[in-house]
Amino acid sequence: MSLPLEREEIQHITEELEVIIAAHLAWFKQINRTLVCANHVNKTDLAEDAYLRSPFGQWYYSQDPHPLQENLDFQNLGATQQAMHSATRLALLEVLDKRRPEPYLYDECIDLALRLNTMLRRVQLEIIGELLTTDSLTGCASRRGMLTRLREEQERATRIQRPCCLCLLDFDHFKRVNDERGHPAGDAVLRQGLRFVTSVLRKYDSIYRYGGEEFLICLPGSPIKDAALVIERIRSGLESLPIRLPSGETLYVTASFGLAEMIPRRTVEEAIADADMALLQAKENGRNRLELWESD
Ligand code: GH3
Ligand code: MG
Ligand code: MG
Repeated sequence: MSLPLEREEIQHITEELEVIIAAHLAWFKQINRTLVCANHVNKTDLAEDAYLRSPFGQWYYSQDPHPLQENLDFQNLGATQQAMHSATRLALLEVLDKRRPEPYLYDECIDLALRLNTMLRRVQLEIIGELLTTDSLTGCASRRGMLTRLREEQERATRIQRPCCLCLLDFDHFKRVNDERGHPAGDAVLRQGLRFVTSVLRKYDSIYRYGGEEFLICLPGSPIKDAALVIERIRSGLESLPIRLPSGETLYVTASFGLAEMIPRRTVEEAIADADMALLQAKENGRNRLELWESD
């Protein structure tokens, strides 16, 4: 599982999109004037690669891999923008030949240009929305919207008749880290620890910051015994993960885990309570361990 975009990156892309949208609207106004008033035709708009030369084209095609490449709306932008330039080119050739473009062609240019504007705004809103649902320290999803997403996972698991597990992760003696090394050291543990945890999770797993130093992992498609193997990999990896503190020192930490399966006839809240019971057991049994909540 990869983390969502970093806060600074979201801010940067949002600003880039603002510039691109402004440039697109300026271009749109100029094209509309040319088509309506049979005005001067800009040669760059007649070129086959006009779509590459615009600020949008440079932004869309110059970064490989693009930070937004997994966003579905982003993927659709390219085809719409190319279609818009193709239609515009045909309409401009008519103007160049001192003819008026057919109404259907004019409509196509305008519709595609307006659609591109709407799509760009939607991508921008989507990534701004990510800020609201992302924890700024760890990059994990925040609690906002967590229950809704977990209920969707549970419904999906029931529909496809595959199990889905929930696991609570709680750092051991975390208060001590803060007390003995300072709050910034605690933050470093959370940031680096969660970067590691996220790297072990699989594509369809998800992770939420549940409370201060407590995280909730959702593992769809796995029976509890298989999910336990993934969690065990996280537990053992975490205990040997060297964490670099702001002071330059290296610190090792551990965490305890409680794992439970989401069962169709029980609510998501009940499944979280089951995982919490197992976590309590792990703490009582000596910490740095995983306990499973077994249904009877
Ligand atoms: P246990 O092994 O029983 O879990 O003990 P613990 O000390 O980890 O448990 P406790 O819940 O008493 O302490 C959690 C601490 O985590 C208290 C709180 O100050 C700290 N904490 C919560 N959020 C953050 C954070 O964002 N940054 C830092 N540095 N500390 C945090
Ligand atoms: Mg703790
Ligand atoms: Mg705790």
